[in-house]
Amino acid sequence: MSDSKKTVKVALGVGSNIGDAKANIDKAAELLEVGGFMSLERSSLFITKPVGCVPGTPDFTNCAFVGEWTGSAEELLNLTQSIEVKLGRPTVHRSDEARVIDLDILLFGEKQLVSERLTVPHPRMCERLFVMEPLNELADNWQIAEHGSVGSVLIRLKGE
Ligand code: AMP
Repeated sequence: MSDSKKTVKVALGVGSNIGDAKANIDKAAELLEVGGFMSLERSSLFITKPVGCVPGTPDFTNCAFVGEWTGSAEELLNLTQSIEVKLGRPTVHRSDEARVIDLDILLFGEKQLVSERLTVPHPRMCERLFVMEPLNELADNWQIAEHGSVGSVLIRLKGE
């Protein structure tokens, strides 16, 4: 079996602030499972204030998904991006505008990956309470390369 076909534990950050955010997140979970994302677990939903977005951007609903993926991280990105488009996110979009759904690959096992399309661990995850709080519900012991466990990063973030 090639390395790219190993089953890996994966964490995704999920956000929506257009339309029925809960329904968008439910649909994204369903389409991930259809696309081969297995054993999907979901955190609770968190309503959060937009960070780094244009003024007037509506509040976000955020959560985390954890599950298992057999394939490469790029293949998972193909799936998450196809779901974003299927749910109505324009293919070309700014990262500071409202979105029907945003799916970020946060962690891919304990691997560090850098390619033209992908940086994992997600480069801004450890600065974002709206990412770390939901993820901590599902995976407080998960080690983030160069940062420590999810739980310890969250404690630091809350102390700032
Ligand atoms: P955004 O529009 O904010 O969701 O950013 C999506 C862009 O970030 C795409 O061009 C991706 O190729 C790139 N990207 C880099 N690293 C990641 C990651 N870990 N998860 C999702 N997208 C990523």
